[in-house]
Amino acid sequence: MTTKAFDIRPPATGTHVPLVVDSPHSGTTYPADFDAAVPVTRLREGEDTFVDELYADAPAAGATLIAARFPRVYVDPNRSLLDIDASLLSSPWPGPAIPSRKTELGIGLIWRLLDTGEAIYARKLTVDEVKHRIVEYHQPYQRAVKKALDEAHGHFGAVWHLDVHSMPAVSSKISEEGPGKSRPDFVLGDRDGTTCEAAFTQFVARTLEGMGYVVKLNDPYKGVELVRAFSDPAAGRHSLQVEVNRRLYMDERTREKGPGFEKLRANLARLLQAVAQYAAEHVPHDHHHHHHHDHDHDHHHHDHHDHGHGHHHDHEH
Ligand SMILES: [Zn+2]
Repeated sequence: MTTKAFDIRPPATGTHVPLVVDSPHSGTTYPADFDAAVPVTRLREGEDTFVDELYADAPAAGATLIAARFPRVYVDPNRSLLDIDASLLSSPWPGPAIPSRKTELGIGLIWRLLDTGEAIYARKLTVDEVKHRIVEYHQPYQRAVKKALDEAHGHFGAVWHLDVHSMPAVSSKISEEGPGKSRPDFVLGDRDGTTCEAAFTQFVARTLEGMGYVVKLNDPYKGVELVRAFSDPAAGRHSLQVEVNRRLYMDERTREKGPGFEKLRANLARLLQAVAQYAAEHVPHDHHHHHHHDHDHDHHHHDHHDHGHGHHHDHEH
């Protein structure tokens, strides 16, 4: 299904597992009322271009895939509604505002600056136009993610969520770690162990390392709003942010796919299959679903009496 704000693709028939993948920053449809001072070619520097395509195999692995269609520099779905930059507005914000560190850096709910530090607007924004961006884009996107997570959690008793992004190869002027630092292949963010079980972060890290990638945890990206807002590891809601280095798949200058795109896409398809199997294997006993993946190899130390679904799992994970 496609709406103005997002595309959503359900799991392929017969493959449903409790996994939701969301790509909030790969949108490339620039609304006509943006009215920025810099050209679209510069605004595009904020995109996680092609990330939705890199994870296009998510439905085949049994996951729901959600991708924003609007650009994150217009309104960022990975920010809290409280993250309002008052300096952008032509009149006071009528609701609560708790600007975060991101707003200080110029990249809050509505971005003020490009990575280079250049101003995006040569004007103030009205309260009404900010509200429009929230109501028409930000909220529908976050609601779609929440609904997919809630449905999977309701059905399976647990859910795993990959919030997927890409990062510039080298840090910029406004980066937390200072300019000019090379990034690793992947950065996984679980907000210092608070948004998913530690075993899940480790599983994704080990899977990527097994493909030869260099993986760092929570440095410099800990994860932001989409992994924070809906996660609750104690209740079986596990969210992990995955940042992939753009040098692995695109030319950041031309914004075209690079020679590594297909290899990375194929490796991410393998990652998705592995994470889907992890999710299927880690659902609570009494929520086992008929269509989970075959994983008999994991059962040598379980009893095998059958009550319906035929599979049992210990809970030492
Ligand atoms: Zn991103």
